Amino acid sequence: MIPADFAYYAPTSLDEALALLGQYGDDAKLLAGGHSLLPALKLRLTAIGHLIDLGRISSLAYIREDQGKLCLGTRTTHYEVETSALLQQRCPLLAECASRIGDVQVRNRGTLGGSLAHADPAADYPAAILALEAEIQAVSAGGKRGIKAEEFFVDLLTTALRPGEILTEVRVPPHAAHTGGAYVKVPQPASGFAVVGVAALVTLDAEGQCAAVRVGVTGAAAKAFRARDTETALTGRMPDDGTLAQAAARATTGIETSGDIFASAEYRAHLTRVYTKRALAKAVERAR
Ligand SMILES: Cc1cc2nc3c(=O)[nH]c(=O)nc-3n(C[C@H](O)[C@H](O)[C@H](O)COP(=O)(O)OP(=O)(O)OC[C@H]3O[C@@H](n4cnc5c(N)ncnc54)[C@H](O)[C@@H]3O)c2cc1C
Repeated sequence: MIPADFAYYAPTSLDEALALLGQYGDDAKLLAGGHSLLPALKLRLTAIGHLIDLGRISSLAYIREDQGKLCLGTRTTHYEVETSALLQQRCPLLAECASRIGDVQVRNRGTLGGSLAHADPAADYPAAILALEAEIQAVSAGGKRGIKAEEFFVDLLTTALRPGEILTEVRVPPHAAHTGGAYVKVPQPASGFAVVGVAALVTLDAEGQCAAVRVGVTGAAAKAFRARDTETALTGRMPDDGTLAQAAARATTGIETSGDIFASAEYRAHLTRVYTKRALAKAVERAR
């Protein structure tokens, strides 16, 4: 339980952190809340020569509105996302998702950027980030780029982040008028990680039909995904109980669900369909 030796750096600016990352390359790691990285170092699943702590870069911790988007610095903790009045009012789906992460200690320490960069297949944020069609910004010595949520999650613990890049900001659109969002999950009993988690965002038109539907699923497979067939099946339809059930039944079409000691692949597929219907029903209720 003792990590291999490493040098520790505590930069106070993004430029300083980027310079250190450029200098030490593959032999360096960024530290945010440390909830995933420190156990990996202590268990010696990973070893590095240089640890760059982002904890003193205060410019990476904020939640604000900018040019019609809600912008979150990546050092923002889950607790800050959960309790943000701006998010609760303008993007309650993201605040609700953060409120379902682990327990209060985990939410006080874990960060949005650390969670996204780690890309744990059972992490909660990816479901909401996908449903919200967020943009994730990364900065390197070469400049800044935006990555669409759907392109960000590449595989198990693998993202589109390139060597030398630091995640700096997540940009989400506020909920449109007559839109409801909901995040529901089956938590793993010990850690709270999602055995399955589903985020749904539904916009209703003047007749009460589904004008837009987006569903993000986490925990069910090696990486989080959009339940596209469900979205298509519901768009343009009246969201009555039968239609929601039919649409939710397609949530795992084309998806290879994962099995482990907590749930077999078949059970995860079943849970995904059941929780997709629950998330959709709640989102519709909130949109009305
Ligand atoms: C007991 C326990 C229960 C948990 N339960 C849940 C749960 O229910 N749901 C859930 O979603 N999560 C859960 N987590 C995960 C936790 O909430 C954190 O989100 C997660 O550990 C990573 O965030 P962190 O800030 O701790 O990142 P760290 O552990 O510091 O870093 C993780 C990885 O991200 C990289 N990184 C960090 N910041 C950046 C950045 N800005 N740019 C690029 N790379 C970066 C690091 O180099 C590292 O590789 C749990 C963790 C614990 C310990």
